[in-house]
Amino acid sequence: MLVRQLFDAQTFTFTYIVADGINSDAIIIDPVDSKIEQYMKLLKELNLTLKYVFDTHVHADHITAAGKLRELTNCITLLGDATNAACVSKTVSDGDIIQVGNLAFTVLETPGHTQDSFCLYTAGMVFTGDTLFIRGTGRTDFQAGNPVDQYHSIVNKLFTLPDETIVYPGHDYNGNTTSTIWEEKNFNPRLAGKTVEEFKHIMDNLKLPNPKMMDIAVPANLACGLI
Ligand code: FE
Repeated sequence: MLVRQLFDAQTFTFTYIVADGINSDAIIIDPVDSKIEQYMKLLKELNLTLKYVFDTHVHADHITAAGKLRELTNCITLLGDATNAACVSKTVSDGDIIQVGNLAFTVLETPGHTQDSFCLYTAGMVFTGDTLFIRGTGRTDFQAGNPVDQYHSIVNKLFTLPDETIVYPGHDYNGNTTSTIWEEKNFNPRLAGKTVEEFKHIMDNLKLPNPKMMDIAVPANLACGLI
């Protein structure tokens, strides 16, 4: 199995290219528009056929490469069915399976960071978008975010995955790359031993500035990055 974790230093975004191996079908999760050349080069070098682009949600901090990758490769762009972005090729629902070669990804609906946040699980790993970070969580203060929903998405959904499942987050701001479900259950300071009320109190008091690109990124991403 091939998992490439790529990092956009401007927005601290992780993008993933996942496939059975070289010469296979591939999926790209959360691509950033300024990195398209890097993705296209790697796809070519590894002889990967891009089948799907999956955005875990409509992002506020960067512009998706989904639309441009679709133009370049004829891939299918996917978002969860809670999205407002009419530009996607196809929406997927909780429990759906996305088949990429021999890899089967299960779609997990995990609202909270935004109302349209989804994760992808395949044996041994979960791509958590901005739902669950390493020792943190995605903010819940815009795009219809909701800390109570996020708590339930994490505790009652992601934390029911096997403990050894590798967590591949959508961002990291502290130099981390991966974690496991067990680690986050035990050491995530917002979640370990915390009630839903305690989690909500933490999330309601983060006092974060809006992302620099938010006013540009959200409308652009509702058009799959093609404006
Ligand atoms: Fe986000």
